[in-house]
Amino acid sequence: MPRPTVLIPRLMIAIAALFPSAAIVSAKDAAADDGKLRIVVFGAHPDDAEFKAGGTAAKWARQGHHVKLCSVTNGDIGHWQMAGGPLAQRRAAESAAVARKLGVTSQVLDIHDGELEPTLENRRLITKVIREWKADIVIAHRPWDYHPDHRYVGILVQDAAFMVTVPFFCPDTPPLKKNPVFLYSSDGFQKPYPFKPDMVVALDDVFDEKVEALHELESQVYEGGASGSEEFVRNVPPAADVAGRKAWLKQRWQARQSAEADRYRSDLLRLYGDEKGKAVKYAESFELCEYGRRPSAAELKQLFPFFPAE
Ligand SMILES: [Zn+2]
Repeated sequence: MPRPTVLIPRLMIAIAALFPSAAIVSAKDAAADDGKLRIVVFGAHPDDAEFKAGGTAAKWARQGHHVKLCSVTNGDIGHWQMAGGPLAQRRAAESAAVARKLGVTSQVLDIHDGELEPTLENRRLITKVIREWKADIVIAHRPWDYHPDHRYVGILVQDAAFMVTVPFFCPDTPPLKKNPVFLYSSDGFQKPYPFKPDMVVALDDVFDEKVEALHELESQVYEGGASGSEEFVRNVPPAADVAGRKAWLKQRWQARQSAEADRYRSDLLRLYGDEKGKAVKYAESFELCEYGRRPSAAELKQLFPFFPAE
């Protein structure tokens, strides 16, 4: 694939020059070992991690923990009307803007949208991202999501879930001494088995912040991304009507995230107690992966430190 491999590194350099905060690791977060948690959320495209875990990321960030939202592809076919370098640039900038609003770091890997494969090369790449971030917590799609890129992100992160600790795999990047806790972000797919959360996080105190951040994902939320159309755009308030757009977006996310809270109400009651659990309006949820460290219920609550002391 001669043309893309020649063009894309140049493109990524151009992106880094245009949008420094979209580039790899911010100086602040390169320093680890400050006693704070380190979290990396993988998504297949520059919106998935934001959609699935943006609220929980904001809650960690408020407590000074270090969160990276990492898109494994550059999203360069994720629009009905535009594609290629200009779209990849646009989406990297959108993700960087979300990250600024949430107080987290964003990274977009240089792999074409729709072309992610679970190769050894990509297993090494994902392993290095997790190691370099010195992650305590890793979140990714389940490997039976609708989109091939989502599925392969799930596979690649599962494939890294033990290898991050193995010294002679990618020996140029120091292995993690402690295996992170790996979790899946939520989805609605039923086969081979439905998503079943171990952790459900109340978003009520960060919900507005999440919506305010998602407002930056213009190509996706207001133009519909790859499944948009002229008709879709006609039904969204115009770009000049910022308040109208935000209200429209808020309504959609209220529906989505209150449905998530209601679907996992019994877990909210278990985690927050009856009174608080009943009152939660909006939630994000995560399921433990069996392949990383297996935390006790008490340790899981330390990793998601959003619960009143017991
Ligand atoms: Zn996606």
